[in-house]
Amino acid sequence: MVSYKELGLVNTRAMFAAAVKGGYAIPAFNFNTMEQMQAIVQAAVETKSPVIMQVSKGARNYANATILRYMAQGAVEYAKELGCAHPEIVLHLDHGDSFELCKDCIDMGFSSVMIDGSALPYEENIALTKKVVEYAHKYDVTVEAELGVLAGVEDEVASEVSHYTKPEEVIDFATRTGCDSLAISIGTSHGAYKFKPEQCTRDPKTGKLVPPPLAFDVLHEIEKKLPGFPIVLHGSSSVPQEEVDTINAYGGKLPDAVGIPEEQLREASKSAVCKINIDSDSRLAMTAAVRKYLAENPSHFDPRQYLKPARDNMKKMYIHKIVDVLGSDNKLLQK
Ligand SMILES: [Zn+2]
Repeated sequence: MVSYKELGLVNTRAMFAAAVKGGYAIPAFNFNTMEQMQAIVQAAVETKSPVIMQVSKGARNYANATILRYMAQGAVEYAKELGCAHPEIVLHLDHGDSFELCKDCIDMGFSSVMIDGSALPYEENIALTKKVVEYAHKYDVTVEAELGVLAGVEDEVASEVSHYTKPEEVIDFATRTGCDSLAISIGTSHGAYKFKPEQCTRDPKTGKLVPPPLAFDVLHEIEKKLPGFPIVLHGSSSVPQEEVDTINAYGGKLPDAVGIPEEQLREASKSAVCKINIDSDSRLAMTAAVRKYLAENPSHFDPRQYLKPARDNMKKMYIHKIVDVLGSDNKLLQK
């Protein structure tokens, strides 16, 4: 058993309370590789932002849970080396699907876990979430739960259709489970193809797809039921058109990829939404830079040559999200 506190990590409690009160959101960036980790830490340090580094089941399968945990510990030390005296870094399990997986992560130093029982019947979701909360709270680890189903595909999590969270259930759910934050479904979606073209309208000037707006009425209803309670949005990449265009210009094929417009995420950040999950945008930033570099430098074969621009491009994207979308810059609790 390793406590996350020994690793220099923090849980989400204080940062969420401050974010809800201050009208901003904490970025939750998924990571699988060293370059992503470096870019996340550099961006968080330069902007003086708290940050959640999250690991999905797919990331654990790809990189190995032990390695990712030591990388998170390394991230804390790296942040200090870059001049941040008190880094606020959370290591979070994204979409935990069983008590055993959550327990395993807590025992190896994660400071926050998500238990996603959203596909289960309501009472089973409550029972599973409550079991994880009881274990996690013994070690001061915070727990994110989910009510409502998001559409889209993210690693092993996939659903054809979305079901908005029912506001009438949230008080009962939060009270009976004791969860620390709640992921809700209001129209965000996993992956780089968040909406089918038939769900969108086309901008007459650019011909680009315009996705349907988020259900802010549902969000506001939930906020009224649970005043000040931390709300989480999954599937909140914006799928920047310039990255998609670069990928397609250098041999990729991502027709009609579409994300959540940043204005809507900016608006959500000002509400009780205090954690916004971004994964696809980092994948796109990395792939766009690698494709461009290799196309322009066909004789190069040193991975450092193409991973450096990939890392720089991700860092630029992370800084943009922190400063221009979520507003979490200069929000470290301890200066
Ligand atoms: Zn998710």
